[in-house]
Amino acid sequence: MSRLSVAIDGPAGAGKSTVARRVAAELGLTYVDTGAMYRAITWKILRDNENPEDEILASRLARDTDLRLTAGKGGVDVWVDGEKVTEAIRTPEVTSQVSRIAGHVGVRKGLTDKQRAMARQGGVVMDGRDIGTQVMPDADVKVFLTASIEERAQRRYQELMQKGFEVDPEQLREEIRNRDEKDRNREHSPLRPAEDAVHLDTTGLSIDEVVQSILTLCQSRVSGGE
Ligand code: C5P
Repeated sequence: MSRLSVAIDGPAGAGKSTVARRVAAELGLTYVDTGAMYRAITWKILRDNENPEDEILASRLARDTDLRLTAGKGGVDVWVDGEKVTEAIRTPEVTSQVSRIAGHVGVRKGLTDKQRAMARQGGVVMDGRDIGTQVMPDADVKVFLTASIEERAQRRYQELMQKGFEVDPEQLREEIRNRDEKDRNREHSPLRPAEDAVHLDTTGLSIDEVVQSILTLCQSRVSGGE
């Protein structure tokens, strides 16, 4: 299992990061949160009051920024040029702009190059939107996680409330719908399942159940079955 590569894609709020982190811990693999990388670049652009439409600048930042993901206490810590931005990249402001930045082809290239470098050794569980299609097309296991929009909005609501953000559930659902729309319809590397991905609808399932299905899938790939 130590060199296994696992790709987990899906829309916002489908439970990817929680599940991916748990699967990585169970199998002793490294978890790579690629959404955090798009968020980190977005955070940097907003911090510097730069124009999110400036594709040349955003692409340069994606290529040149020193971006690091490290194992933190409650999950992954994210570092931009040596500064810890783990919480700062989760604000509603970053969330509302990230899909726009992620639509720039140069940004995708810069971050995909970094992600492929991380994936090269194997031994990773990577989650995102284009992992099974672009970043690790040869992944041993590919999963496409979905859940109903109601459930996804409810999960995000709980998550944000716990972090102390005041959010309107209706607005949250609209924000998720918008982000899905942008991620699915963008020209470059849109959100879509790889042809060989296993689809898992997590509506009504517990985290444990989803983690268990993926572990079973990994086990069957390692032992040579389907
Ligand atoms: O996973 P998370 O919701 O944190 O991702 C934030 C945004 O980053 C997504 O809505 C999407 O626009 C972008 N993203 C992407 N490709 C990935 C991961 C995230 O375009 N592989």
